[in-house]
This record gives sequence, C-alpha cells and structure tokens, in this order.
Amino acid sequence: MKILFSILFLLNIQSCMSQETKKVLEEDNFKIVKTDSEWKQVLSAKQYYVLRESGTEQAFSSPLNNNETKGTYLCAACKTPLFKSEHKFDSGTGWPSFDTEITGNVTYTKEGASNYYGIEEHCATCGGHLGHVFNDGPKNTTGKRHCINGVALDFIPNP
Ligand SMILES: [Zn+2]
Repeated sequence: MKILFSILFLLNIQSCMSQETKKVLEEDNFKIVKTDSEWKQVLSAKQYYVLRESGTEQAFSSPLNNNETKGTYLCAACKTPLFKSEHKFDSGTGWPSFDTEITGNVTYTKEGASNYYGIEEHCATCGGHLGHVFNDGPKNTTGKRHCINGVALDFIPNP
C-alpha cells in the first residue's frame, strides 16, 4: 500500500512539471505555439528531443554538418529561415556552425550563460531549441560560433 502511494505521489509531481513547462512557453509569446502532443505529431523523435526537450544530437551525425551547397537553413519545426550558407563555417566540432544568424529570427536565453556552456539559442517563431552560441567563432568576421543541431534545421538550396 505504501508503495502505491509513493507511485501516485511521483506521478503527481511529473504532471505538475509538464504543466509548468507549458506555462513558460506560453509566457514567451511565440507566434507558433503547439502542445507537446501536437509537436510530437509533426516532428520525428530526434527532432522532438532537440527542439522541444533541448537535447543535443551526436556530433558528426548530421548530413548538414558537411553541407557546402549554397542556400538557406530553416527551423525544422516551423520553417522560419534562420541561417544562410555564406555564414556557415567548418568549426571542426561536428555540428553545423555559423558566424551570423538571420537577424530577428533567433532568440537567446541569457540565464546561466557562460563562455564554456554558451548562450542557449532558440527559434524566435516557435521557441524550438537550436543549440548554443559561443564567443570563439572566426575572428575575421563576428567572433561568434552558433553551434546548431543539424536535426533542428531544414535546408533549401538556392534556386
Ligand atoms: Zn521554429
């Protein structure tokens, strides 16, 4: 009986946590807001893990890491254009890296930021987690390194 009560207690805590997460997303006022189950319908399991749970894909796992075709990188969740190929560089980290974003289309979480962990970077339209930005990018351009999960991106080649 005691075990049953503990299980019920744990389940209760978990449901409170997911409500809390939703509240935070709504408060951010993103143009596109979906429930967790709606996102699960439109995203693959890997995309959901990165975009909605702030996960990180395995280094060198994305085919976009070595993509040198000219074009535009979009948010995989809501198709907002986020980065251009002319701002992509080979950082050697195993994740697609850019020195500049498309202005206004990404947003940052400054809380808990440090040079080591970087500042968390999100799509400004749907709030999807993209990766982190660091200050060790190319010195001859912006000095920024936007370290982005390839699974969070779609790529459209230039016509
Ligand atoms: Zn998005």
